[in-house]
Amino acid sequence: MPTPSNPLKAVRGTRDLLPPDTALWNRVESIARSVFSRYGFGEIRTPIFEDTSLFARGVGEETDIVSKEMYTWEDRARAQSEKAQSLTLRPENTAGVVRAYIEHNLGDTGQLQKLFYIGPQFRRERPQRGRYRQFWQIGVEVLGPVTSGSESPLRDAEVLEMLATLLDELGIKGWRLELNSVGSATDRPRYVAALREALAPIKHQLCEDNQRRAETNPLRVLDSKDPNDQALIEALPRIADFLDDSSREHFSQVCVALDACGVPYTINPRLVRGLDYYTRTTFEFTVPSSGDPASGLGTQNALLGGGRYDGLSEMLGGPRAPGIGFAIGEDRLILTLQAQAGAPHLASEMWEKKLDAYIAPLGSKRNAAALALARELRRAGLSVEVGDGAFRLKKSFEAADRVARHIVILGEDELASGILTVKTFATGEQTKIAQADLAQALRA
Ligand code: AMP
Repeated sequence: MPTPSNPLKAVRGTRDLLPPDTALWNRVESIARSVFSRYGFGEIRTPIFEDTSLFARGVGEETDIVSKEMYTWEDRARAQSEKAQSLTLRPENTAGVVRAYIEHNLGDTGQLQKLFYIGPQFRRERPQRGRYRQFWQIGVEVLGPVTSGSESPLRDAEVLEMLATLLDELGIKGWRLELNSVGSATDRPRYVAALREALAPIKHQLCEDNQRRAETNPLRVLDSKDPNDQALIEALPRIADFLDDSSREHFSQVCVALDACGVPYTINPRLVRGLDYYTRTTFEFTVPSSGDPASGLGTQNALLGGGRYDGLSEMLGGPRAPGIGFAIGEDRLILTLQAQAGAPHLASEMWEKKLDAYIAPLGSKRNAAALALARELRRAGLSVEVGDGAFRLKKSFEAADRVARHIVILGEDELASGILTVKTFATGEQTKIAQADLAQALRA
């Protein structure tokens, strides 16, 4: 039972986003929407929960996300004849988007589908700065039948170039693009087999987590950040040596196109990413990492990740629909912006922007008239706060000075004459203005 000394709190790993921070969130989202629309993307909104099997099949049973981190529950059967359904809060959104692509036969249009989403995802991870149990992602997915050009390396390069443009427009400094190819659906099993073989004799020297991964999902061992394991990991076989000619050619064309656009990147042969569905191009954008106060992220320096998932639609029972996508961790993006000098250019105009006017009614009897005047000004496009007639004039002035550029005094005389007293805080000037001219004057 909550009591005054023990009030309820937001659940661990979740948090409230409050003004003025939310102004920055909105600004970031509107810049993302603007960039996405310039590249021909449309918005998709899928449900926050899905059938559990979507993630088991789409993300992979052996991934940390599915095996340890999902919020899953049995939905109550409504009738005896109905079976209880296992539902899960989405831990990521690619599987949901591909499910929607299949369900709505979007491939039948023959067109390449360019979709973006912005919304919360849920993973039961250990909370820390930059890592939450409810977090937001801004993501895109480009997919379609092969005839729509969905397999082309041009699409990979376009998505990466768009990300570079987005991060630049947001003012993120020092981002780095790390790129790799994890090969086709046939290259990957050959590589995983070689990895298993190489891991078998050295497994016992790895940390406990990596010992488990070596069994269940050997690719994840490469992702490991455990400092003691790095030398052993460095000596493991590299995916680049297992790519077939077509994957190699695909990857080199992505690089050529990025070079042509002048987008800098680093090839990281260890970048494999955790989810089962990735094929060929995989990537991550990072910002200067731990220890560097500019990042604001501590050890969570991956801003976003993504890659190709050419077989995912088939894994979910759909038609062939190669695709590529990414998800930006919006929480981390915001933390980075706030920590870098880039934040003020986005936020200050909203954080520091004052309202146009504060209306101060003199005496409670003037409250209704004050609200009516505020309505008139707000409908004329002005931002207005209304005080309260119960406030002493000094308190009204102090409150107004904090939030608004002008104070409008509404007393008995003003109401009777329609001539209002207006003070402009920046100049200290006090003038009388006819109500009909008020909106115009307050805009100045
Ligand atoms: P993923 O879906 O795992 O590829 O993650 C894509 C991006 O989402 C990461 O690069 C992070 O920026 C962000 N992200 C993933 N998990 C979390 C989390 N628990 N809290 C905050 N951001 C996250």
